[in-house]
Amino acid sequence: MAQEQVQAPIQEAAPKQEEKQTNCLACNKPLKKVRIYYRDGKFYCTKRCWKDFLDKQENLGKAETK
Ligand SMILES: [Zn+2]
Repeated sequence: MAQEQVQAPIQEAAPKQEEKQTNCLACNKPLKKVRIYYRDGKFYCTKRCWKDFLDKQENLGKAETK
């Protein structure tokens, strides 16, 4: 490894967040038009996934509190 490694070009951070949400925030499944549960500006596939997501958030919050 005599040669210096060429630095990888820095990727653009967060290009555009205008892309439409296509996956469920809870299970990451692609959202289908037929079954979409919309809540608080976010999309989930079912109400259950929304609750799952909320639980996740809660757990994350707990984990961060130290
Ligand atoms: Zn889901």
